Amino acid sequence: MDRTHLLSDQDEVHSVPSCPAGSYADPNTEANNGATAPPSDLMPVVPGYERLGPNIIPPSDFGSRQPEAPPRAPERRFDIPAISEELAQEAFTNYVSSKCCYSSKPVKEMVFTDLQSLNTYRYRLETFTETRTTEWDSEPYNGQVVDGVGMAPAAWSIPVPIPSLFQDCKKSIRVPHTSTVKGCHSCLNLGRSACSKCVNSGRTRCGHCSGTGWRSSPERQRCGSCSGSGMIRCHSCGGVGSITCKTCQGHGKLLCFIKLIVTWKNNMHVSVIDKGSGFPVDLLDQITGEKLLTDMAPMVYPVVNFPDRSVNAVSESAVREHQAQFCTTCRILQQRQTIELIPITRVHYIWKEKTHIYFVYGTEHKVFTKDYPAKCCCCSIL
Ligand SMILES: [Zn+2]
Ligand SMILES: [Zn+2]
Ligand SMILES: [Zn+2]
Repeated sequence: MDRTHLLSDQDEVHSVPSCPAGSYADPNTEANNGATAPPSDLMPVVPGYERLGPNIIPPSDFGSRQPEAPPRAPERRFDIPAISEELAQEAFTNYVSSKCCYSSKPVKEMVFTDLQSLNTYRYRLETFTETRTTEWDSEPYNGQVVDGVGMAPAAWSIPVPIPSLFQDCKKSIRVPHTSTVKGCHSCLNLGRSACSKCVNSGRTRCGHCSGTGWRSSPERQRCGSCSGSGMIRCHSCGGVGSITCKTCQGHGKLLCFIKLIVTWKNNMHVSVIDKGSGFPVDLLDQITGEKLLTDMAPMVYPVVNFPDRSVNAVSESAVREHQAQFCTTCRILQQRQTIELIPITRVHYIWKEKTHIYFVYGTEHKVFTKDYPAKCCCCSIL
């Protein structure tokens, strides 16, 4: 089975959101050094963009898409047998030898009494969505083209290519025909703002004499650093008393525009159909199973004819839940559902006239046990 593929699937889900470096089309992020747009009540009203802010813009075409026909369930049966005693012993031997304080005696002397196959299914539904919000943004104005003339296109009609399916990402785009030039609100159009270090005076207290003008050691004498004045030239502003305005970078004017923020998110639902075997299902997060079904469509139809009916029920509720959750606020771009079979075998064995249990699970044949009968004392601390 294609383990690499499965692992990379999981990576997709757990990885930190990332975008291809070149795809972030916001010229503002590099240039503005924290520039902010003037307060919104100073800004003009752009038709179609009367209400900006963090509220998500509902997609105009929601509800128009229909799910496709149900995917065909695999025909074969999945009653895979329990693993062989040799395999069970080999997995247990590897497990015990990886624990420094487990004696290998039980592994060598045990007698198998039962191996039970406990097939477990894992169902995953991924819903890849796009949301759009808008806000005012600005950059220092130094003669760029102002494209304020003309009709601004509606937020959802601006074409923004999807960087990658099923991967979280974010992009900012300038909405055409929304630019306008405004005086800088931070510096009142002056291009310079007061130096906070010296409060406009251009001079700060001398650090060598703490502002007294005198030094006491080795003997009392005038401070050489400030020539006895107690004050020195301000390092921050070079003695001018003001610094270049960070918002407008000294231009005194800002080019303001509406920024469209597009967010792609992969929303994930995972269900493990637990067989009540006593096996802790959270261990399965780390392991791979055998992929039985992969179904991808703009909108998937719940799985209806899988041999294990609890999988159908889980799929039905997950699909319904995701559609209710995302249909009105996001555009659902693509959905993908998968069913995996995860082999689990419960092994019963006798050692020194006592019965013990361990589990061998996953295609990797990992072992889980709660009661290994021969550990040295330090293991109880671990
Ligand atoms: Zn001094
Ligand atoms: Zn200063
Ligand atoms: Zn300014």
